[in-house]
This record gives sequence, structure tokens and C-alpha cells, in this order.
Amino acid sequence: MTDRYASFVQSGAGRALVKRLGLPDPPRLRRHTPGDPLVPGPVLLGSAAGGRLAEPVGKILAAAGVELPDPAAATDATSRHAALVYDATGITDSTELRQLYDFFHPQARALLPSGRVIVLGTPPAECGSPREATAQRALEGLTRSIGKEFGRGVTAQLVYVTRDGDAGTLTSLESALRFLLSGRSAYVSGQVIRVGAGTAQPPADWDRPLDGQVVLVTGAARGIGAALARVLARDGARVVALDIPAAGDTLAAVANEIGGTAVQLDLTAPDAPARLAEHLATRHGRVDVVVHNAGITRDRTLGRMDADRWDSVIDVNLSSQERINDVLLERGLIPAGGRIVSVSSIAGIAGNRGQTNYATSKAGVIGLVESLAPVLRERGISVNAVAPGFIETRLTARIPLLLREAGRRMNSMSQGGLPVDVAETIGWLAWPATGAVSGNVVRVCGQSLLGA
Ligand code: NAD
Repeated sequence: MTDRYASFVQSGAGRALVKRLGLPDPPRLRRHTPGDPLVPGPVLLGSAAGGRLAEPVGKILAAAGVELPDPAAATDATSRHAALVYDATGITDSTELRQLYDFFHPQARALLPSGRVIVLGTPPAECGSPREATAQRALEGLTRSIGKEFGRGVTAQLVYVTRDGDAGTLTSLESALRFLLSGRSAYVSGQVIRVGAGTAQPPADWDRPLDGQVVLVTGAARGIGAALARVLARDGARVVALDIPAAGDTLAAVANEIGGTAVQLDLTAPDAPARLAEHLATRHGRVDVVVHNAGITRDRTLGRMDADRWDSVIDVNLSSQERINDVLLERGLIPAGGRIVSVSSIAGIAGNRGQTNYATSKAGVIGLVESLAPVLRERGISVNAVAPGFIETRLTARIPLLLREAGRRMNSMSQGGLPVDVAETIGWLAWPATGAVSGNVVRVCGQSLLGA
């Protein structure tokens, strides 16, 4: 599906008209291409007094080949940066929040298009005093507002990093920085990412962060699932692509294109978990990453909804995920270092008219992630969700025109996301290096005003 308005605005004549009329101005977003440098310019790294992360982050970025100018020489706003990274972990009282203003104010208009703002903090629950917890919690208001204010494709995120870290924490902090700074996170903004402790393995090559991993993708015949299969294969994974038998031809085409294998299976069939487990055991002996992407909508307002619509949506979108997890975990097919990534939706966060069944299932997915993450932590398995907003697929092409335009424009990017944006985020959560990120729900919604 094409966004004709965005193409028009990005043309020369369109730009002038849109500026004059004050219409939404969707920027062209920087997206990832293999071999790209992490960022297309220097990164300004700042720190509040007493910050504990600036030093390790400086080392990580320097080793990744990032140019790091001296903050003292860069405050005149004439130098343009690709990203601003600020270690706010030293802020222990609200009166010290002024340091944020001092760092960001001179830079507010000097970021390159599709620039990045990343603030690092300590999880409020881990803070030593109510005052420190208050100040750390306040950071979220800053990053969420910067995301809405800076425009031109700039994204802003808050990354809370545990104080009780281990080797996995630093690896996953690097993985988070690499994701958030790169074009992989083009449509992710206003998010709070939590890096905890856990098993995390840096890759031999950050350009192939999934090398050798066996990854199952459900609903892989089209839309987000097909984009996901391509992104995962590009990043080195061996992809097992699953979809219903009726989608067999398109599924086979996707699997062939990426050198993966295809499994035709209806996830709601009573024997689906056992058959899938059998397939994975005999073909691969394990599955390192399970991505629950298959999903359906059967919209009606609740008073007009028949029971079949309710049952099928809950079963495909939620219960089948639980049954499959149970069988794969029971049979030990997901090894230590394994990953489960589930696809939720912003409808599951905020609810949606005409989608009681869908929103219930997608909120349930968030419940699954939050409840399973602590249970699986001791097995070294992470569980996370992504919650897409308005993504240009067949699903959203069916939305009535006016509502569709509203969904597209009412976010900080003034445009819908692409399947590849969701795929890149799921891919990042699947990396062996991201193991210390678990129990997170990451929205891929361009910082949508809907479902806020
Ligand atoms: P899509 O309809 O294009 O693709 C979904 C795929 O899942 C299809 O290939 C379908 O055949 C498969 N599938 C459905 N039921 C199945 C079953 N019982 N067994 C096996 N496969 C089955 O949808 P999409 O837009 O690519 O969405 C993918 C996921 O993202 C879904 O979970 C959806 O709810 C979620 N999502 C999408 C959007 C969006 O804007 N497109 C927004 C939020 C969430």
C-alpha cells in the first residue's frame, strides 16, 4: 500500500505547498541498509555529574567507530549531530534536572534529520531514595516530549539500565544503543526500554547479529511476517516460516526467496503444537527464537459481535501462543539463550472501538510477556512483545479512508510505519546480544497519539 500524500510532500512542489498551508509534513525516514555506518554523523555524549554509564557507553560507541566530539567544544549549536546521548543516572534530586535543560537546550535545533536522542537512567524501583526515584521517573516526560517536538524523523527514547548489572547488561546496553541509533528503529519513538541482567552474547559481526540462529516466524506468508522473515534471514538466521495451508504458495515463495523452510499449519488445530514441536525437533533439534506474529481481526462492536468472532480472535492471537510456548518449553526445544517475541498492538494498550475481541487478545499478549519473563529468566530465555501502531499492510488498507488518514498522520512521524519497521524491532529483540532485555513491550508506532 502506498502513502501518496507522503510521496507528494517529499517532492519539491509538495514541500512548498505543505509549508505554506501548515499541513502534516511526513519526513523521509532513515532506514537500515546492511553496511551502513551506525550513525551518519558525530554523536554528542553528555553526562550529569556522577553518572555511572557515560564511561562504558563512550567505550562502546568509540569501538563501534562512532565519532564523539568533546561536549565542551560542541555547545555552540553550530555543529550538527546525528545523535545526542545523555547519561542521567547521576541525577538524584529534582533540583538536578536542570542539567538536562543545559545539555539539550543548545542542541534542540541542531540535530540532523532522523537524528536520535537517547537518555540513560536508573529504574525508579531500584533507586536508593524517593527523591532519586522521582527524578529518574521524570526523565520519561523529557524524552516523550522531545519525540513529539523535534520532528524531521528524530526519535527519542529513555533507556533504564539496572544497577545490579552483570556482563549481560553491558552487552544488551550495546545492543540497545546499536538498535536505537541505527535506521533499524526508524519508526520507534517515545519508548522506555529496560535493560536488566541476563544471558547475552555479543555477535562475532554486528552486521549479522542472528548468525546461525534457528528462528520460527508464524504468519510468515505476507505482511509483517513476510518482512520479518526477510529481515531475520538478512541478519543471518535460519528461518522456519509458518502459515496456514491456504497461504501455501505465498509462504513457499517467501521461504524460497530467503533460503528458509516452510511449514503449513493452522495454529488453532488441536495437534498444531505437537506437530510443530515434531518438525522443529527432527529438522533442527531446537528453536532459538519463536516469533508469534500470526494474528487476525474480526471487528464488530461488542453488541453486534457473534461468539465465533470473539472465539477465533482470542484463539489465534493469544491462546495458540500459550499452547505452543508450553509444548516447546516442556520438550526443552527452546535452549538457554532462547527468545520468545510476541506481536501485540497499540489496541491492546489503549483499546479500540469495534475491537473488544482483538484488544483483549493483544492486552493478553502483554500479560503473557510480563508473567512469563520472570519465570523464564532462570532458564536464560527472554520474552518480549512489540506493539505496532499504524503499519501499511493489507490489514490497515481495509480501514475506511478517513480513519486511515487519521491513523497515518496522528503520530510524531506524520506517516504510517512499514512492515520492515516492526520486523527490525522484533529482530533486535531476537538477537543473542539482547538477552538482558526481557518483559519489555516496545511500541513501533511512530509515537502514535492514538493508543497513547
Ligand atoms: P496479515 O493479515 O497481513 O498477516 C497475518 C498472517 O497470519 C497471514 O499470513 C495469515 O494467513 C496468518 N495466520 C492467520 N491465522 C493463522 C493461523 N490460525 N495459523 C497460521 N497462520 C495464521 O497481518 P499483518 O498486518 O502482517 O499483522 C501481523 C501481526 O501484527 C498480527 O498479529 C497483527 O495483529 C499485528 N498488528 C498489525 C498491525 C498493522 O497495522 N498491520 C498493527 C498492530 C498489530
